[in-house]
Amino acid sequence: MQKSSRFTALIVFACLWPSVLLGQTQVVMESVPSDYQFKRVPPPAKEDTATKAEYKILRGKIDPNSVGLQALHNDKMPANEDQPGENFFFAAGTDGGCLEIDLGRAISVKQFASYSWHATTRAAQVYRLYGAVGDEEGLSHSITSVTEFAKSGWSLIASVDTRVESSVGGQHGVSVTGADKPLGRFRYLLLDVSPTETNDAFGNTFFSEIDIYDADGQSAAPIELPKSNKLAFETSDGKYRFAIDTTDAADLRDWCDRELRPVVQTWYPKIVAMLPSDGFVAPSRVELRFQDESRMGGNPAYANANVITLNTQWFRRELKREARGAVVHEMAHVVQSYTQNRRNARTTTPGWIVEGIPDYIRWFLYEPEIKGAEIPERALATATHDASYRITGNFFDFLTRTYDRDFIAKLNTTARNGRYDSNFWIKTFGKSAPELEREWIADCRLQIDQAKK
Ligand SMILES: [Zn+2]
Repeated sequence: MQKSSRFTALIVFACLWPSVLLGQTQVVMESVPSDYQFKRVPPPAKEDTATKAEYKILRGKIDPNSVGLQALHNDKMPANEDQPGENFFFAAGTDGGCLEIDLGRAISVKQFASYSWHATTRAAQVYRLYGAVGDEEGLSHSITSVTEFAKSGWSLIASVDTRVESSVGGQHGVSVTGADKPLGRFRYLLLDVSPTETNDAFGNTFFSEIDIYDADGQSAAPIELPKSNKLAFETSDGKYRFAIDTTDAADLRDWCDRELRPVVQTWYPKIVAMLPSDGFVAPSRVELRFQDESRMGGNPAYANANVITLNTQWFRRELKREARGAVVHEMAHVVQSYTQNRRNARTTTPGWIVEGIPDYIRWFLYEPEIKGAEIPERALATATHDASYRITGNFFDFLTRTYDRDFIAKLNTTARNGRYDSNFWIKTFGKSAPELEREWIADCRLQIDQAKK
């Protein structure tokens, strides 16, 4: 079973601490790729009770790249997934810290919400939420180590941990409410924050906003989200996430949203299913970005690992023609992952196969009605099976139709495992590549003749 990267978790947290907290606390945690379109966590709000609160660090150090605590209550959200200037985060390599929010006076808190956004492990939120009215005996505001909070007068409200998968990025939202009444009466709220991972120095969460709702106050309006230069979306099962960066091509954003997005959402998982191999997991995140023609070396597009770079001017010209198909071709390269799997390879796959598979998928499966890979009669005399791109794609289509419907999957597995050599053809078809080529050319000729009749 595959885990979904979109998740909603509901935790009913029974409070064990003798405090003002009687009854139960509900913690809802969600993750989405963009636009904070959570199902149960409210969207980030402006002019909520937390906006005017005072924020203080009781333990830990702010990262010098972070804009600081103001990010948490400036009623502004980041425009993309890596914006230190719009987030609060503890210093790199440290084990998180402790953050206090002073509401100025004790109020009945209806709801607490926190929001974060990052591409990788800095998206998740891991913290314990404590509260205090202010008159608790021995209440301490100078927590310098992970103290026993109960002894310092704090009551535990909730434990939050949005790490459903270790590597899931995106926008994470957390809502903490009382199960059937306000959360409790508090002047102070305290977050004891842990890093999400310690494999590297970058495990401290990018917190974008904290919202607090007063049970006796007015409802707060959602924050207007900045227009992102990245279009983020995912497949309906949440398994694959995509981002299209249109910084270099703002005029293409609408086209990307309307025309390209459905192609990517539908065809990336299809290509993954077409090109399986034992133990292989296709990239779960794919980024597409536009780049000026002058930096493209004459290429309409190219793929490097899970990043697809698109030639802005070429795409502008080809919107109604080749643009979508070119992206299908590049997505096939992302799934092939031949260079990523080269570690144990015995052979290097020839370029005509590397390019022939994406063009077969593009011209014969994605847009067969275009007939873009048909070989005209005048080109037949010089056509060879290893001519690459659409000519090789045509050869692969012949083999698939004539001999083996699973041929592409077999060829891909051999190539991905670094085991391709010219014996592949004999082993698979009992015939050499030149023999198969003669049959293919004869078949092309037959089809041209039949079309004439
Ligand atoms: Zn290619």
